[in-house]
Order: sequence, then C-alpha cells, then structure tokens
Amino acid sequence: MLVADSMVTPGLARQVKDAVRDLTGRPVRYLLNTHGDSDHILGNQEFSPESVLLSHRLTRERLLKEGDSAIAAARNARPFLAPELEQARVVVPGVAFEGDLQIDLGGVMVECIYLGPAHTPGDVAVWLPQRRVLFTADLVFNRIFPVMRNADVANWILALDRLEALEPDVVAVSHGDVGGRGLIREMRELLTTVRGRVLEARDQGVPLARVLEEVKFPAYEGLSKAEVRIPEAIQRIYQYEEVKA
Ligand SMILES: [Zn+2]
Repeated sequence: MLVADSMVTPGLARQVKDAVRDLTGRPVRYLLNTHGDSDHILGNQEFSPESVLLSHRLTRERLLKEGDSAIAAARNARPFLAPELEQARVVVPGVAFEGDLQIDLGGVMVECIYLGPAHTPGDVAVWLPQRRVLFTADLVFNRIFPVMRNADVANWILALDRLEALEPDVVAVSHGDVGGRGLIREMRELLTTVRGRVLEARDQGVPLARVLEEVKFPAYEGLSKAEVRIPEAIQRIYQYEEVKA
C-alpha cells in the first residue's frame, strides 16, 4: 500500500493508518509527501520507520531547512490543534526522487508525477493509470480558494494542462470533495483569471496596495477561505513574477 500525505497531526495520521489496515489488511509500504506544507507532513512520524517515506528532492530539502517551524506553522493556521501538535515532530522523508517515480504495488502501477514549481516547489501528483484515478494533492482545490503563498502560478497553470491531458475519470483533491476532471478545468480558470487581472493591473503601473484594494474577483469571493487567500494570491503574483521577469 502507498499512502499519499500524512495529515496535520500524528493523531489524524493514526486514523488513516487504522483505516488502511481495516480496509486492506495490509501494511503501508510507502508514505509519499506530495509537497512540504505542514498539513501534509506532520503525521510522518506515525509511518516511520515501518514505511518508506518518499518525496521529491525539493520537498525533502525544504523540510530539512524548515525543521520544527512546520509545527509552528500548523499551530498558527489551526490553533484548535495546538494540544495535539504537542506530540508532533518533523520526520523528513529518507528517500528523495528527481523527476517522476513509478512504483509497482503488486500489479497496480502508481506514478508519482513531478509538476513543480506550482503550488510549492516540490509538488507531486499521484496517478493510477489502470484505474484512471488522479490524486492532485494541492494542485486542485474543490470549492476552496487555493493557497498561492509560495506558488509559481504560471507554471501551476501548465501543470494543470498536464494533469488534464491524463484524462482521469476520478479526481481526488487534498482539500474538498472528490470529483471528475472538470475540477482541473475550474482550477485552471481560477488561476488564469486571478493571474491575468493582477498582471494586467501591474503592467499598467498600479501599485500593489491599490491592486489589493481595487481588483475584485466576485466569482471566487464565495469560496471557502477566499477572504484571506485572495490578498495572499494577489501579493504573490504581483511580487513573484516581477522578480522573475
Ligand atoms: Zn494542503
């Protein structure tokens, strides 16, 4: 068995492990971190050392560099988890890969596809070609405004083109309900719209503070977390792509 991501606390990771055991009766051979955000890695300790912990090289390097600050980040984002996070420690994947990774789980092929930098530098999606099931991790959010704090939005849009070209029947996202391949298109529309409007204003010389005040996205304001994440997205696109150009 392979589990993608270990949740935000050791307690939640134990629930995942128990559910896998109850459903399959098999041990978890591999735990993959799809990227390095704290809500995807803080249960790693529950899988180590029995499972092989894997991630893209850039995610491993990020976790080594950030150390325990991931725990503080999780506590800030979700203060109600503070008691549970007291037992958390950061366990960094021991195996890192570059590019894509294929794993044969006794006849079921698993393809870990590197798509970064997109949501984060080390993003990996998990594709089961025989079942046409795609686990997008945080490259797709469903009815929730995406986190773009550390994003390369231009490349994220290209990553979504690649995911759509796989023609998945089932799209399982990390935040929000499971859906079909339309979720990928919706996410691309959102990113393209937000990026386009921000860069348009910036190219006209509008200062960031005014873009934050004046550029509105009525179609996306009703999404969960939009209030906090739209300003973050505007700031990231405005500043990151300026540095790049
Ligand atoms: Zn996440």
